[in-house]
Amino acid sequence: MFRIGYHLSISKGYLAAAKECLSVGANTFQFFSRNPMGSKARPINEKDIASYMEYSSEHGISRILAHAPYTLNCASSKPEVREFADMCFADDLRRIDMLPGSLYNFHPGSHTGDGIKVGISRVVSALDKAITSETNTIACLETMGGKGSEIGSSFEELGQIIRESAWTEKLAVCLDTCHVFDAGYDIVNNLDGVLEEFDHAIGISKLKAIHLNDSKNALGSRKDRHEKIGEGSIGLDAFARIINHAVLSDLPFYLETPTDLEGYSHEIALLASLRDR
Ligand code: FE
Ligand code: FE
Ligand code: ZN
Repeated sequence: MFRIGYHLSISKGYLAAAKECLSVGANTFQFFSRNPMGSKARPINEKDIASYMEYSSEHGISRILAHAPYTLNCASSKPEVREFADMCFADDLRRIDMLPGSLYNFHPGSHTGDGIKVGISRVVSALDKAITSETNTIACLETMGGKGSEIGSSFEELGQIIRESAWTEKLAVCLDTCHVFDAGYDIVNNLDGVLEEFDHAIGISKLKAIHLNDSKNALGSRKDRHEKIGEGSIGLDAFARIINHAVLSDLPFYLETPTDLEGYSHEIALLASLRDR
């Protein structure tokens, strides 16, 4: 089945989010686990979670994805930034575990000048501290565009983090189409080749989610500026191949395009019309 959703705000709770999601023809959604630019998390409302669980199973909504805040950087050279990341990771994973079957997505981080090797070892140790044998949620490392000192713009770096962690089986990858394109992976002309590279460096079974975004910039630009589906340099034909690819078609797809509710509704209908039945 075609699992498609978009990024929404859960400021009114999970039940309200699920209702909004249905209203635009989506059957999943992504939300920020806490204030994206800060640290505050919403208080846990067990009644809302219970109503959401019932409503979502009745209406076929599943595989929702919690996105960590942008302020989370477990690879930072600043100890206080890493401490916040440790707190945030552990608390987010506990919260998301209250929503069975959900995924967690985070940016591996930026080494802020300390080099890729040190950065990667910090990401590994942060994951090893936050995840426990009780954690059920799969934590997805997001593929990054390669701005500044960002870690995770190459499949090799992501593969290394997953292999070096003590929790390999609880880690996976969320592929962002804008980010991989900006990082230089040609998903427009060589989708099969890119997926082969992914398989070689990480293992294709680790691919658990896709962020569907067009890009404002050219292949390899390392910019990370999302564009509406079909209006950027990736283009509609490439998206049709992506959502129908045998290796990808059963994964959940999440839009993070610069648009509004009406725009998401339009993009979801457009993509659904391109889906082979
Ligand atoms: Fe992201
Ligand atoms: Fe993304
Ligand atoms: Zn992005």
